[in-house]
Amino acid sequence: MSSFHYLYKCSACGLKWPPERIEPDGYLCPDCGKWQTQRPLEGALRIEYDYASLRRSMDRARFLSLSPGRMWEYSQLWPLKSATGTDEPFAGIARSRLESFALPQNQLGAWEVDGVRVEFLDDTRNLTGSFKDRASLLVALKALQLGMREISASSTGNAGTSLAGICARLGLTAHIWVPAAIPKGKLLQLVAYGARVYLVNGDYDAAFDIGLEMAMKHGWYNRNTGFNPLTIEGKKSAAYDIFLALRGSLPDIVFVPTGDGVVLAGLHKGFWELRELGLIETLPRLVAVQSERGDAVCRYVRTGKFEYVPATTIADSISAGAPRNLFMAAQALRETNGLTVAVSDESILAAQRRVARETGLLVEPAAAASLAGYLKFRADDLLDPSARTLLLFTGHGLKDPAALERWAERPPSRTAEEWRKLLSDKSAGARD
Ligand SMILES: [Zn+2]
Repeated sequence: MSSFHYLYKCSACGLKWPPERIEPDGYLCPDCGKWQTQRPLEGALRIEYDYASLRRSMDRARFLSLSPGRMWEYSQLWPLKSATGTDEPFAGIARSRLESFALPQNQLGAWEVDGVRVEFLDDTRNLTGSFKDRASLLVALKALQLGMREISASSTGNAGTSLAGICARLGLTAHIWVPAAIPKGKLLQLVAYGARVYLVNGDYDAAFDIGLEMAMKHGWYNRNTGFNPLTIEGKKSAAYDIFLALRGSLPDIVFVPTGDGVVLAGLHKGFWELRELGLIETLPRLVAVQSERGDAVCRYVRTGKFEYVPATTIADSISAGAPRNLFMAAQALRETNGLTVAVSDESILAAQRRVARETGLLVEPAAAASLAGYLKFRADDLLDPSARTLLLFTGHGLKDPAALERWAERPPSRTAEEWRKLLSDKSAGARD
């Protein structure tokens, strides 16, 4: 009998594994797990708890009094365990340390898009400016409890910067593998946090593979997204935060920027769990939004086949030719009666501009893809106008200045005298 309050369940063969069989250096199913270059992972593990017993002790009103952005307030739903052997999952980690990672209290917002109210979850103001902090924090806390001081991550940028920032705060070492073409803001962020940065001449898929290989070889804890089950688990906090911020009601449909499929799988896990706990009855419908230049999940859902095509989208955070969490993402879509949509890079940039001009939020292209997907649904008349809709804004726009420069042109510069003259000529003109 395992002394842990959770177990690992294979998403492919269904076998269940106690934590002592997986941790500290196992990640995929010991029986059927397989990692191959440029292929989705097989036998990805999912973490499960004793839902029947949790449900019996669940008090909905008390749960709804918790604050969004503080995962440790529902501690029995996280796969942590104190080194001191107590049952409290976050024991051994100072409360003040946890509180320093609290997410902003006002992440849920709304605005009118062509006369229709649309809600959004704003993850641009997390510690390092992205949704990835949700996963990185859980992984880093697990590493602390396992006594592992070095963590490796392969990333298009955000997962790496997120891990680097959180490691900086916790005094851990981050080894980050990124494509050499990483957006400038993200690279500077990585270096600023003091991470060990390995630029890979190749795409994200190449960075994923070499990062995994080196982590295994050197015995670093691995935060590769989709590979480490805690990366999926960490992202479920978004579902809880939406539930808590909306006081127990949920959107009907959520537009999710999708690359590797981990955000989709994590969000689904959270909503699924809320239902297992008896807190909700229906899961929101999830929509995977991808770029036409990186649409592996859309193609897989349509054809049932995976085919490797390199991704070339400007939305680097959702640029994955081989989505590592493809099968779980597809399952999330199946179980929520979900849909997929691929949008052009041009429409993503137009959506980025629109979000900035209409909400004051500067989001990165991948985040803006959620609005682009929503607008495409509306244009194609695929959306019930009364459906309560939520968009995920997953990363800050200043991380990728080159994308911004595609539409935010530098204004001309003039002397004060020239400006004075120009504006006085203009106002004179206006009087005529
Ligand atoms: Zn398996």
